Amino acid sequence: MAKDYRVLLYYHYVDIENPEEFAADHLKFCKELGLKGRILVAKEGINGTVSGTVEQTNAYMEEMHKDSRFAELVFKVDEHDGHAFKKMHVRPRKELVTLRLSEEEDVDPKEITGEKLSPQEWYEAMQREDTVIIDTRNDYEYEVGHFRGAINPDIETFRDLPEWVRENKHLIEGKKVLMYCTGGIRCEKFTGWMIKEGFEDVAQLHGGIVTYGKDPEVQGELWDGKCYVFDERLTVDINQKEHVVVGVDYFDGKPCERFVNCANPECNRQMLCSEENEHKYMRGCTHECRVHPRNLYVKEQELSRDEVEARLAALGETFDMQEA
Ligand SMILES: [Zn+2]
Repeated sequence: MAKDYRVLLYYHYVDIENPEEFAADHLKFCKELGLKGRILVAKEGINGTVSGTVEQTNAYMEEMHKDSRFAELVFKVDEHDGHAFKKMHVRPRKELVTLRLSEEEDVDPKEITGEKLSPQEWYEAMQREDTVIIDTRNDYEYEVGHFRGAINPDIETFRDLPEWVRENKHLIEGKKVLMYCTGGIRCEKFTGWMIKEGFEDVAQLHGGIVTYGKDPEVQGELWDGKCYVFDERLTVDINQKEHVVVGVDYFDGKPCERFVNCANPECNRQMLCSEENEHKYMRGCTHECRVHPRNLYVKEQELSRDEVEARLAALGETFDMQEA
């Protein structure tokens, strides 16, 4: 049965003169349409995920395409059961993707970017001996799913990627570099940086993982696990032909594709965790997080001090451990 809501994922590198003013107007416009989501606006362009009914999202796409700056903007459209966000935010930013490059190091993807491969070209390139696949996303994104054989730079944030590349040149040199990310925005910038850095043969998956999963030819083949997305869905399916689970539970290492955030609001670590282990460990990633006075799990479950102590005892822990 067709679903009533749509999630739009999109970005576009284009000059936006006054991001603050644009953001304020755009927020008003999105709210009037009834959309929810998160949009970033910078002098270098726009990057957003929004959800709404079929009518609302259609109206948004139509209006955006009327603006000559966004006439070429490509929307990736997913069906969904409801909104994928609770609120609507449009925020002005210095950069669309946080790389924090110095002015002379910064790259304009409109001028310099890696070769764009279609899903079919990517599928073929991945299987060649003379290529190396690099996942440009963060560690927790890689953890739940990635292309088979892709290198995991194991970075906590995107701005750590340049340093990783400089320290791991030996893995890349002499090969054609294939880079990918969720929707393509990070690679459009980063492959440009790679070229400026002196790498000659750098390519990117055009439209990102999400487009690859929808392609009628490749149907997401050679993707393992799920794809992390930055909305309430948390993950989406990519490989339509087979599903290989690669995620493992943070606590017991068993196959797992369920994300939770650490219940300590000051930690908030994203981890894969079964329902059973969520209860067992009170959703705390460490002892300190389990006994944190603001542990959200303890609050939600309305656990008494005795109940918390009993859970800790089952783990061989006590409240006083951190004072030792
Ligand atoms: Zn934690």
